[in-house]
Amino acid sequence: MENRDAELREKILSLKRRRNAVILAHNYQLDEVQDIADFVGDSLELSQQAARTDAEVIVFCGVHFMAETASILCPDKVVLLPDVHAGCPMANMITAERLRERKKELPGATVVCYINSTAETKAESDICCTSANAVKVIESLDAKEILFVPDQYLGHYISTKTDKKMFFWPGFCPTHIRIGAEHIIELKQEHSQAKVVVHPECRPEVIALADEVLSTGGMCRYASRNEVEEMIVGTEIGIIHRLKKENPGKKFIPASEQAICPNMKLITLNKILWSLEEMTPEVKVPKEICLKAKAAVDRMLGIGRADERIKPGSYPDYHGH
Ligand code: SF4
Repeated sequence: MENRDAELREKILSLKRRRNAVILAHNYQLDEVQDIADFVGDSLELSQQAARTDAEVIVFCGVHFMAETASILCPDKVVLLPDVHAGCPMANMITAERLRERKKELPGATVVCYINSTAETKAESDICCTSANAVKVIESLDAKEILFVPDQYLGHYISTKTDKKMFFWPGFCPTHIRIGAEHIIELKQEHSQAKVVVHPECRPEVIALADEVLSTGGMCRYASRNEVEEMIVGTEIGIIHRLKKENPGKKFIPASEQAICPNMKLITLNKILWSLEEMTPEVKVPKEICLKAKAAVDRMLGIGRADERIKPGSYPDYHGH
């Protein structure tokens, strides 16, 4: 078995070189997929990595909206998603059409869209945000009312940090809502010294029990601090592999063994090899949607670089590819 896995890994690495490809893996991917990747990170880090690479082919080990974001940021590269069924249920809880209808009901609101969304949703939004920069993005806006899509729980968390009036789309991550307050309370009794770190996609009652509320990238940085020896981890359990690998000797306890995203686990080494052999399935965003979605992503990336105040519907001219 071990020999077969080693052979599989060897084939992938050799084909990757021949294709001039780079393998990017999300923090929630299977251990063996993370181990073969050139870069492991959260969705934005991976997209930025994609934009930076000289490789002609990107094998994106994550879910569909992430591969779309990579394609939006680098439309000239081939972006492969080794299993086309790896979607995100939360991203699919909103459609561009339903968002257009809601915008008509709230004409004064600026639409802020979590990066965990389809390209079509991003294209209908004024600006994107990640779980790491959401508060900063919203505070930068010249708007009193915000329509936040699609995650109501991240939206709720941000609303506790800003005075702006926020309207939420009723979406949620089915994986993060499996983490209950009772899990945290029980684990805190067993591990009294442990820091409780949770993702802002968790329910408010779980967030209320946390020492830190962080994106997955933030969790990895936090775990490396000297004062952190034991950590209760309130997010998808795939991240435990990376946390242990980067912090030998420290203890990481999943808040719930049930916090597994089945879509993230669809990508396997066999599928990566097949994808590189066949150069499929390719994720490509239609040009018109790509340009609008990129404008929303670029505006987010510009926060901190420029003092741009965004007004609802005020798309600056975008001269894309
Ligand atoms: S963990 Fe949640 S938000 Fe992330 S891909 Fe899975 S369902 Fe979507």
